[in-house]
Amino acid sequence: MHLEGTILVGPDFEPVEGRVVVADGEIVRVEAESVESDDVILPAFVNAHTHIGDSIAKEAGEGLSLDELVAPPDGLKHRLLRSASHEEKVAAMARTLRYMESTGTGTFLEFREGGVDGVAALRDALAGEGVEFGERAIESVVFGRDDPDVLSVADGYGASGARDADFDAVRSETREAGKLFGIHAGERDADDINPAMDLDPDFLVHMVHAESIHLERVADRGTPVVVCPRSNLVTNVGVPPIRELTERTTVALGTDNVMTDSPSMFREMEFAAKLSDLPAREILRMATRNGAEIAGLNRGVVRKGADADLLVLDGDSDNLAGARDLVRAVVRRAGHADVSRVVIGGEPVVPRDD
Ligand SMILES: [Zn+2]
Repeated sequence: MHLEGTILVGPDFEPVEGRVVVADGEIVRVEAESVESDDVILPAFVNAHTHIGDSIAKEAGEGLSLDELVAPPDGLKHRLLRSASHEEKVAAMARTLRYMESTGTGTFLEFREGGVDGVAALRDALAGEGVEFGERAIESVVFGRDDPDVLSVADGYGASGARDADFDAVRSETREAGKLFGIHAGERDADDINPAMDLDPDFLVHMVHAESIHLERVADRGTPVVVCPRSNLVTNVGVPPIRELTERTTVALGTDNVMTDSPSMFREMEFAAKLSDLPAREILRMATRNGAEIAGLNRGVVRKGADADLLVLDGDSDNLAGARDLVRAVVRRAGHADVSRVVIGGEPVVPRDD
């Protein structure tokens, strides 16, 4: 299969008119050539931080503080999760997976509550178990918690935060299992940042309250950071120092809890771009390549040999027509209505054939 249009090629998203040739789930060639197409072809998004389990609780808990909302074990989110059945949770997550695909996300890094059962519920949603519209192509990298056995089924361990428990043992186990260890840090205040960094995590999430000493540590160790600025705004904890972080390490974007924010990377990119005023290229990398790098995946970039996870936008939509700077338009302006195709693992998932 091949796609034609203006291709945002490589890690710098250089616009090249031509063709992307795909075979066996991989990009085999990028050909520069004059083509008859207004399409814009870019890597599918990698959403670097989600909690899609709370898809059952969208917009619940208005006015609650961060802890009242999501702190384990008795924050509103955890009470709602406990009171919902497995089937309800799977059905709600499946709807979220389909929405994420339709908004151009090919991969997401999911922090999963509920131990082995929680991971099983996500796998059921991905497999379309008991869901009318069936299996999804979107790929999850699952970080489990709450259970000593969770590493046997998850791709890594996703710790709630250093103040919630002693994570030394599970940190070592995760390393021995050759899996990834991520942890929330600096969301409510700065107190849990150094203890989280002492665990030598593969990545940190949030870092809203990072101070200069923490920024130095991040730079020294090269620890990647996932930022979720819309979530931070909703939970009223401030906004992350995105610019300062990008000067020091790899930064990726995540949409965090479905409960508080729609898992659309278009929305997160626009918000992060306008908040930080970083170059659009940098923001697009945060929404694609950087998350893939954290997860050790060969995607999030259009180049020969990368996984064929691609997003095609209609460059002649009423929203995008006449854009003078294509990358800037994609980052700050594009949305769901501009999506014409989504390809995951070399297979088209939008438009759907069923
Ligand atoms: Zn989180």
